[in-house]
Amino acid sequence: MLEATGLAAAYGPVKALDGVSLTVAQGEVAAVLGANGAGKSTLLRTLLGLMPGAGGTVRFCGEDISKLSTPERVRRGLVLVPEGRRVLTGLTVEENLLMGAYPRRDTPGAAELDAIYGRFSNLAARRHMKAGVLSGGEQQMLAIGRAMMARPKLMMLDEPSLGLSPRLTSEVFALIAALNAEGMSILLVEQNALLALEASQRALVLELGREVVAGTSAALLKDDRVRGAYLGAA
Ligand code: ATP
Repeated sequence: MLEATGLAAAYGPVKALDGVSLTVAQGEVAAVLGANGAGKSTLLRTLLGLMPGAGGTVRFCGEDISKLSTPERVRRGLVLVPEGRRVLTGLTVEENLLMGAYPRRDTPGAAELDAIYGRFSNLAARRHMKAGVLSGGEQQMLAIGRAMMARPKLMMLDEPSLGLSPRLTSEVFALIAALNAEGMSILLVEQNALLALEASQRALVLELGREVVAGTSAALLKDDRVRGAYLGAA
């Protein structure tokens, strides 16, 4: 479904991605692991066309989207839930959800909002409240709900567990599993390597903008380099 090859990106003189390739198959959860500053967020931003001057090729659903603008990529179903949620705190929950549909050419119907509210009862109860009053977990659900309003085929999530309690983290991961079971392909960036490997079928480890290990998540869970550096085991 997604096939990226030779991705390269930089912030001025700082190389943040250097020749990274990855694939996400239809219906799969794929994970990107790595320490702070490894280039994980930059990878997602590059896939979405948010890194000026980026190199490499991105194919999505059989089409080369490397030259397309970000809204055009979103319209094709490649959607990002950004790190730190980035909900608009001064707007209501419902206004935030409607923002997610903004790149679409059609107007979302009430049934679509109802479907989101059916899934997230906390958001339904707070639909007319400012997003700024929501808890961190609720804001994460809102960010995911907002992404769903764009009708994603592949949802990319950047550190969805960041700052959340273990209980809320479990809820977010249960939601990711549910969306995947309904057919959504997922690309997950996550610092908690164990959580990410358990939730995914395929994974890639980045260090300083380069791939160091890639393979099935089951194999990476047993890989000595991964265990030593990311899973706290020798
Ligand atoms: P984190 O988990 O901390 O977000 P990451 O793996 O997502 O880490 P990136 O945010 O992609 O890493 O950063 C990759 C490299 O690019 C790092 O060296 C970082 O300092 C640098 N970088 C990221 N954003 C910027 C920016 N806006 N300006 C300059 N350098 C940046």
